[in-house]
Amino acid sequence: MKFVNKETALELIIDDKLIQRIADYGADKYPNEFGGLLLGRYLNNHTTVSIEDTLLPKKYKSSRYFFERGSEGLRESLELHYNALPSLIYIGEWHTHPDSPARPSALDLKSMKELADDKNVLITNPILMIFEMRKRAHDIGLYFLHKDRLLRYTSMEEQQGWKEKIVYATS
Ligand SMILES: [Zn+2]
Repeated sequence: MKFVNKETALELIIDDKLIQRIADYGADKYPNEFGGLLLGRYLNNHTTVSIEDTLLPKKYKSSRYFFERGSEGLRESLELHYNALPSLIYIGEWHTHPDSPARPSALDLKSMKELADDKNVLITNPILMIFEMRKRAHDIGLYFLHKDRLLRYTSMEEQQGWKEKIVYATS
């Protein structure tokens, strides 16, 4: 599936199967929040980001309105992915919003800014993928940090006015 941010013309691609896989991880923990890391690659001279995999935290704290992941063991996993072919790098985070809209909270924006400022994080425009989890369906919101704001990617369908919202059934 292809998304684009109109303001910057930057594109994002992600496979439907990966969206479904991440949604299933989120559904497992519903009605609590859950999340993980996004791995991928930059293509076309950095104008397109391709999300290709996820890593789940070994340790985390979560409740219905809160999620914080630990970083134990993630460095080693990231290294393995970096050395694989194709080489995948850390590009951002995903987490669920159980029964709440797929829109970033004030805390989400703050966390993404902190991430971009982190010396250990090499990317300056981290991706944030939010899953609005409902009992039987989910919706996604895709954002990236740009000049201290979270800009949204919209799908081609949404831009052409075919669909107001993309809602996926949870398998
Ligand atoms: Zn959030």
